[in-house]
Amino acid sequence: MPDKQEPLFFRSPYDLFIERAEGAYLYARGGRKILDGGGGAVVVHIGQGREEMARVAAEVVGRINYIVPVFDSAERSALVARLKRWTPPGLTRFYFTSGGSEAIESALKFALLCQKSRGRAGRTKIISRQFSYHGNTLGALSAGHNLRRKDYEPVLLDWPKIRPSFCYRCPWDKTYPGCDLDCASALEAEILKQGPDTIAAFLAEPMMGSSGGAVVPVKEYWPRIAEICRRYDVLLIADEVMTGFGRTGRRFAVDHWNIKPDILVGGKGLTGGYLPMGMIAVDAHLVDQCERAGADFMFFTYSNHPLACALADKALEIMERERLVERAAEVGARMGARLKEELSGHPLVGDVRGIGMFWAIELVRDRSAKTPYRPDQRVTMRVIDAAVERGLFVYPARGMAGPAGGDAVMVTPPFIIGDDEIDFITQTLRAAFDQVIPSLQ
Ligand code: PLP
Repeated sequence: MPDKQEPLFFRSPYDLFIERAEGAYLYARGGRKILDGGGGAVVVHIGQGREEMARVAAEVVGRINYIVPVFDSAERSALVARLKRWTPPGLTRFYFTSGGSEAIESALKFALLCQKSRGRAGRTKIISRQFSYHGNTLGALSAGHNLRRKDYEPVLLDWPKIRPSFCYRCPWDKTYPGCDLDCASALEAEILKQGPDTIAAFLAEPMMGSSGGAVVPVKEYWPRIAEICRRYDVLLIADEVMTGFGRTGRRFAVDHWNIKPDILVGGKGLTGGYLPMGMIAVDAHLVDQCERAGADFMFFTYSNHPLACALADKALEIMERERLVERAAEVGARMGARLKEELSGHPLVGDVRGIGMFWAIELVRDRSAKTPYRPDQRVTMRVIDAAVERGLFVYPARGMAGPAGGDAVMVTPPFIIGDDEIDFITQTLRAAFDQVIPSLQ
């Protein structure tokens, strides 16, 4: 092991060197033990250091390490067979990538291809929501949050965005600046404004992740969105990179409303962090239609990688065997109740919200008006620094306070945590909030 830290690229906001990880814990140089209350970047579900994952990895690498993605393998077929039991009915065709951003790009391209194959080549626009994050590549950035876009604006794709998206002011609060329509009607208004014949797809996270802070929409929202998309022949793309594979206490967040998107995008929890991988799951009719029209869809060099397929299949098998999706719902409900009970009265806390193992705490300057702190006060990072000092990592997010967003932290631990960890999370966050608040006066 190297005995000094080498700079990688830009400077990291953290001064941490992690030597190993086990279960829900990270072990840093110097003997520090840190509870991973973010599950990394909302990735880790089955916990780290599972021996059976290591055995699968060793066995696969010893037998097969690379094949062109058009060849089949036992690993790929096994994963496809298992995934068909996970995804909403009808989403039975899969395209694998090396991460979430590649999967989003693939979903966008596939949507354009579908429309072209139906003889609607003029449908080239994607509608997305202003408060959203879909990834780091140019196409994905085009569909995402303004703050992430700003350095690349001149080269991004000029697709329409709808604002507002749902927030904690729902149900259907029309008094908030910009909320002249309920959030689902805003989509219909935008489709009509642009002209339905120009719109290929609507892309959104079923529950907002890092750009809103675990925002669960009102129950009317998604059924209406799905109906509007169907009515105007707009393909519905659900970005489940963060919410998928049990994170919200159901296999996918869309399962909370029995919504079947045309394209579902996954990543993160697909392998639980054991290897980079993303995917799109697509309605078989759409693939057949494209094939009949003679369309082709390029692969990435590392699509369908046998090792990634094998580890994803094993991670999902473990989730099934240990009933971890159900556990995410049960333990997550306990964790959410504790977070609300212990923290919602704190002077720094504007809202505690979430579902399953997908929770966030909004950090505000004024609790009743829900006004955020100034961005240069770096409240989210101060809180995380104070928590890490005490042995807890939580994931940074943007909140929904104020028109431009605000501060929030996400509490999204591995699904295997128990009551001791829940106690530690709540107590440590309270201590971190107490430490930070005097410095903000
Ligand atoms: N979509 C959502 C909702 C995400 O949260 C992320 C990453 O955080 C992505 C897409 C991009 O995934 P990746 O970072 O694996 O490229």
